[in-house]
Amino acid sequence: MNQKLTIALVAHDHRKADMIEWAVYNAEFLSHHHLVCTGTTGSLVKSALEEAGYCPDIECMNSGPMGGDAEIAALVVRNEIDLAVFLIDDLNPQPHEADIQMLLRQCRVHNTPIACNLASADLMISSRLLGSESYHPKEQQYVDFTRC
Ligand code: PGA
Repeated sequence: MNQKLTIALVAHDHRKADMIEWAVYNAEFLSHHHLVCTGTTGSLVKSALEEAGYCPDIECMNSGPMGGDAEIAALVVRNEIDLAVFLIDDLNPQPHEADIQMLLRQCRVHNTPIACNLASADLMISSRLLGSESYHPKEQQYVDFTRC
């Protein structure tokens, strides 16, 4: 793949260990792309990738509870995110639940691929469609089929 993609990485606190392990395992792939992260996730991923000998292109937004998820959602709305990996802590309540739901919803609305677990992330980054010249996710239809 020659295309430089913009990939969003977000992990809740109890999911950060998995995110870092996943990022280091996929460091070679990630080092070819622009990474947009929430604050703490971004600084941890950056340190881990640098320690692994890579020089990642990482942009850090605010921390999630301070609006980082909302900033990434805004990029999704502008179709500036090619893929998101969002490791959500489903076992503990989050103070910014509204922002989490907003990011998920905007990815659904704008047909942006979003992986919410490691297996989905693995499958998405290994897809032959990712970054392919011939694949362009289309606008989705929101029509009232019952009225057609
Ligand atoms: P953080 O935010 O990377 O700044 O911890 C993640 C989140 O809670 O959405």
